[in-house]
Amino acid sequence: MRKLIIVFCALHLASGAPAQMNTNKADMNNPFFREYKTPFQVPPFDDIKPEHFLPAIEEGIRQHTAEIDLIISGRDLPDFNNTILPYDTSGELLSDVSKVFGNLNGANTNALIQKLAREISPKLTKHGDDILLNPELFRKIKSVYDHRLTLGLSGDQLRVVEKIYNDFVRGGANLSAQDQAKLRLVNEELSKLSLQFSENVLAETNKNFRLVIDNKKDLEGLSPDVIEAAAIQATKDSVPGKWSFTLQKPSMLPFLQYAKNRNLREKLYSGYFMRGDHGNKFDNKEIIKKIVQLRDEKGKLMGYPGFAAFVIAENMAQTPQEVDVFLQKLWTPALKRAKNELAEMQAIADRDGGKIKIQSWDWWFYAEKLRKEKYNLDEAELKPYFSLENVKKGIFYVANKLYGITFENRNDIPIYNSEVVAYEVKEADGKHIGVLYMDFHPRDGKRAGAWCTTYRTQKYRDGKKITPVVSMVMNFTRPAGNVPALLSFDEVTTMFHEFGHALHRLFQDQPYDRTAGDVPRDFVELPSQVMENWASEPAVLKAYARHYQTAEIIPDGLIAKLVKSSQFNQGFETVEYLAASILDLKYHTLSNPVIADIAKFENESLTREGLIPEILPRYRSTYFSHIFSGGYSAGYYVYIWAAVLDADAFEAFKESGDLFNPALAAKFRELLTKSGSDDGMRIYTRFRGKAPDIQPLLHRRGLD
Ligand SMILES: [Zn+2]
Repeated sequence: MRKLIIVFCALHLASGAPAQMNTNKADMNNPFFREYKTPFQVPPFDDIKPEHFLPAIEEGIRQHTAEIDLIISGRDLPDFNNTILPYDTSGELLSDVSKVFGNLNGANTNALIQKLAREISPKLTKHGDDILLNPELFRKIKSVYDHRLTLGLSGDQLRVVEKIYNDFVRGGANLSAQDQAKLRLVNEELSKLSLQFSENVLAETNKNFRLVIDNKKDLEGLSPDVIEAAAIQATKDSVPGKWSFTLQKPSMLPFLQYAKNRNLREKLYSGYFMRGDHGNKFDNKEIIKKIVQLRDEKGKLMGYPGFAAFVIAENMAQTPQEVDVFLQKLWTPALKRAKNELAEMQAIADRDGGKIKIQSWDWWFYAEKLRKEKYNLDEAELKPYFSLENVKKGIFYVANKLYGITFENRNDIPIYNSEVVAYEVKEADGKHIGVLYMDFHPRDGKRAGAWCTTYRTQKYRDGKKITPVVSMVMNFTRPAGNVPALLSFDEVTTMFHEFGHALHRLFQDQPYDRTAGDVPRDFVELPSQVMENWASEPAVLKAYARHYQTAEIIPDGLIAKLVKSSQFNQGFETVEYLAASILDLKYHTLSNPVIADIAKFENESLTREGLIPEILPRYRSTYFSHIFSGGYSAGYYVYIWAAVLDADAFEAFKESGDLFNPALAAKFRELLTKSGSDDGMRIYTRFRGKAPDIQPLLHRRGLD
């Protein structure tokens, strides 16, 4: 769905007492080697040049290694203070640099940075393995772990010891030397392949396809702002005077929703779903085959039946079987609902006399017609109330009402692209919480989708709290001509979603790096998705949804239609999402991971589940970045798992009769602050007072 994890989070890295630095002439000009003199010590983006990354990464690795060597060389009996604590805070320079590098490679890349990524990525993978497979270091960590119950540790310390020990075990520390050597090769190969996968998707999304229109008649059905945006894009694409449509959602979706020319809709949607599947140098099929095999090998090396079992063992769900049972519970009612939606749309098509059978590229077009007929609601009618500026005010309003916090636009904070805006986030009493970047629109060097990431995570050094630097990256509709960026309601909820991740990162407050904000993968979308609930509440809409020209508050009639249509197309959306989740699970639970034909595998796996051809999985394999180059492998299901939690959590606010119930808000903030300090289910139950219930989710989607 939305959030992607940055590629370079392979290992948990961070650090304290810096080791001696290699000083030479070049270092003096490298901003990574100087104390940041920027506000709140954010990265000095104005000074950072691509040539600074490699030396800084290399020096970071050297320092980190020296810190590890220092831990190993200690003569005293290993304990928390001489082993765990220095390990927990080690590698700070490397962490700082790789965060900047990984984030920029996702949001603001270019050929030079991509080339560097190919060089840097294997170095980081090797370094991660050098640490986790270091037998002397492991011996010390294990010694603390084995004696952890008699060392007089606090609850937080105990958890850190267990987490770090577990990292080593899952990193292969207990394997034979021979298997460790195999694991290193597997990890190295996997990191290269996932990088290649993401480069291919980036090129296929942003560069390799354009639908260029030169006949005005082919624009029939499109609104003036969409046409204007396509004209601007055409100029950018060096075809001035024409209209250019891309595979970025803000360009593609309005075309699929409104363009009357069916052949062109097919052409555009095919461009989208064939990404990475053209048999050329950007094709991802061979890469997928290799990734699936290597991951299976890794899962088995680690003593699990396969890769999914290895990954999910750490999650709330615990086993792939548990996930499968859960997904099936939703699949049957969702598929039934989607088939009903299709029948309703086909009836419209028949009535209009088009003599067509609806295909996948028709879905958005007829869904819009259905929305209009059934709910008398037109997406175009809503958009003027959701200018980017007003939606931004909306998220700030909700955060302020819930938590009392404020957001101050700061032009003195360095940014990595002129389109980025920076905010200082403050408590009600003015105390600094952190820095928040927002980056709203598509660019050539930016991956598709939306995600939230950090340039610095909250931590403590010498008892002093270091505050976080967080970034929300999105790909929303651009302003066109005199019209500001007007968001679709889907974009509105995406903004609330990423903002929820940002609040999680801003609020988390834990004494140790390893456990700060560390939650199971299937918990991580709770803080984000819960925020989406506020976006469509009538009382909240009235606070932020104002017409961009007249400042008129969104009329009650329109709100009523929006609320009434909240279950619109939910069959489709749930099915396309579940199909992708099921596909992910299929890839990572194969008993024989050798796949002859990726397209066939994908098709057969989903047809067997009963997926109808009018709906494609939300991501087909060849551009399924979440699982082949992001952090969601064997974990795409986590969004809907967490949806049970977020629907249930929001229900608590509803039940209380106050969407901003202060006591509940305080408890939810506590959940965010303390996340990572305990098992996910226990953290949740502490907030809710009971285990989560699936019913609110089924009801919200009209699946009950
Ligand atoms: Zn998310």
